[in-house]
Amino acid sequence: MNIILLGPPGAGKGTQAQRLVERHGMRQLSTGDMLRAAVKAGTPTGLEAKAVMERGELVSDAIVSALIGDELDAMGADTGAIFDGYPRTAAQAESLDAILSARGRKLDHVVELEVDEEALVERITGRFTCATCGKGYHDTFERPKVDGVCDKCGGTEFKRRPDDNAETVRTRLAEYRAKTAPILPIYEARGIVAKVDGMADMDHVTAAIEGALRT
Ligand SMILES: [Zn+2]
Repeated sequence: MNIILLGPPGAGKGTQAQRLVERHGMRQLSTGDMLRAAVKAGTPTGLEAKAVMERGELVSDAIVSALIGDELDAMGADTGAIFDGYPRTAAQAESLDAILSARGRKLDHVVELEVDEEALVERITGRFTCATCGKGYHDTFERPKVDGVCDKCGGTEFKRRPDDNAETVRTRLAEYRAKTAPILPIYEARGIVAKVDGMADMDHVTAAIEGALRT
């Protein structure tokens, strides 16, 4: 089984990908990771990519396709692939079809973790932690029992991550929509897109993904 897993930052995509790897022995193919690994290992594709990057140029689709092909060739024929962060364009989606079919594989499902933008902003911007022991809290969902005092250690200093602000979260969501907009209609037309509620708790999300993969 070969799938694309899509989801905006904060939707828990990393956790769900990890669970698919553990439950089904699938491999997660992230183009950034593959690129770094190929450069480090000095494979022919890696050396080519390194030369391109040293000239300050972007790695071409042809190189990315070669990387994915190398990775699939190194995997067992019955090991499923989870594509993460690829494809981003209609041309890449076409390349992916060719790469897979050349190896007797096909894309079975595209799973998108959907989020409610306002709820996600609330979830992320409400997070804070105890500066002393690191215990996590939330303005709405998990306040300390006594305001301003950590339940666990009695500390009175708290901190927030600078990235956890509404503007940054909204920017990241907009970037995500821009990246997926070119490819979602292609897969929707094939009837292989499953939308899963990414706002549900993690176990429910996992169960919904499993259900989608069985169809
Ligand atoms: Zn504490």
